[in-house]
Amino acid sequence: MKKATFTELAERVLFTVYPRRCPVCGIQLPTEEYICAKCAESFPYKYHKETLNGLTVYSVCGYNELTKNIVLGAKNQRDGDKLDFIAYAASDMMKTLDAGESADGIVPVPQHISKYFTRGYSHTEKISRQLSRHIGIPVINAVKKGRATAEQKSLSHAQRKLNLKGVFYVKENADIKGKRLIVFDDVCTTGATLLEVCACLKEAGCKDVVCVCFARAGKEK
Ligand SMILES: [Zn+2]
Repeated sequence: MKKATFTELAERVLFTVYPRRCPVCGIQLPTEEYICAKCAESFPYKYHKETLNGLTVYSVCGYNELTKNIVLGAKNQRDGDKLDFIAYAASDMMKTLDAGESADGIVPVPQHISKYFTRGYSHTEKISRQLSRHIGIPVINAVKKGRATAEQKSLSHAQRKLNLKGVFYVKENADIKGKRLIVFDDVCTTGATLLEVCACLKEAGCKDVVCVCFARAGKEK
């Protein structure tokens, strides 16, 4: 039998005290499950691969009331069940579609430090760390966001591009030269954010990049 790591042991103890719950209906789940069977059956999975702004973008589902609730819980309420589910669903989609299988690292789309202080955590980083455990590819926190920006969803297409211009940059000590990377974000709408993040990674010398997001908004698939 494989020896459990310290993290796995700690997780087992944690689940005894705080069992994981279904991110949709809230029912208590067995340790190895991330959504209950009933909600899994009706969950609007739409594993999808597309080319957007010249980038390869993989997504798990569309953006609707149900998936929005999961995204917002993970983003603003530190809801561990929703964070865990997004990571699990992304890993399952990636395995199903052979997405990023030869990648060297997962790069979370960063938030500005002011958001980090308000929320106390970065949801994309937390999800990326869980995703990393599922797919065995390390997280490389290579990109930073230099200034706070207006919410992309409040802006027009042209404004979105302008809003993000030059806002992301690669950390000086980031080890990404020649590497194949997976950029992770929770939601993708026009792809403007992914485009900016990928552009700065390519400029800094990464070999290849694909994007993975949970919910694909703004497009009927
Ligand atoms: Zn459920």
